[in-house]
Formats: sequence, C-alpha cells, structure tokens
Amino acid sequence: MAEETIFSKIIRREIPSEIVYQDDLVTAFRDISPKAPSHIVIVPNILIPTVNDVTAEHEAALGRMFTAAAKIAEREGIAENGFRLIVNCNRHGGQEVYHLHMHLLGGRPLGPLVAF
Ligand code: AMP
Repeated sequence: MAEETIFSKIIRREIPSEIVYQDDLVTAFRDISPKAPSHIVIVPNILIPTVNDVTAEHEAALGRMFTAAAKIAEREGIAENGFRLIVNCNRHGGQEVYHLHMHLLGGRPLGPLVAF
C-alpha cells in the first residue's frame, strides 16, 4: 500500500490550496513554488505513486489529466501562446512528491526542455 502524500490532503480539501479544477477523477491546484506565471499541478484523485506504477486501470484518470490541462490552459489564457506539460518520475526525473502529477507551466517563453 503506497503512502499518502500532501497531495491526498489537498484533494480532500483537508489543507489549504488554491484548487483551480476538480472532478471525479482529477484535481488541479496552483503550485506552492511557481516556476512560471501559470504553474498548476494536476493529479489523479487516486494515489498512483509514480509513472512506474501506472496500469491500464488508470487510463481514464490519466486521459482526464490532459483534458483538464487543456481546459485550465484556456482559462489561464495561455493556450494560444503555448505551455509545457511535465511529469517527473523518481530520482533522476526530479520527482519530489510521490503522487503522480503533471505540471502545467506557461505565461512566458519556457526555453529549452532540459538544462544541461
Ligand atoms: P515534483 O518535483 O515533480 O515531485 O513536483 C512537486 C511539486 O509540488 C513542486 O513543484 C512543489 O512546489 C509542489 N508542491 C509541494 N507541496 C505543495 C503544496 N502544499 N501545494 C502546492 N504545491 C506543492
């Protein structure tokens, strides 16, 4: 059984967070340490620790993350100029919170994908 993270408490609204979108499968909230003018974290409501734990049963929630990202980008006014979606996995991917999530970043030119 995977251990819950702070994201489960945000999903259940047990701790304060600026939730910008929530439905039966996913929740999206503003990142506490934004790296761009719009920086939203989109998470499945069920706990999947990392991309390595994904199974076919999760496909509806994972697909919904993209639908939510498109809706949120439109609402944030960043859809036309563009944005970046990032999913980090484990140590080399830079994952800090072990509840799978997608970063939605936009509002300025984001530069090259990876800094070397
Ligand atoms: P990652 O490195 O991909 O695991 O990203 C985790 C992200 O979660 C970081 O960008 C953090 O700033 C963000 N984060 C951690 N705690 C919170 C919180 N309580 N509310 C909003 N974002 C958070």
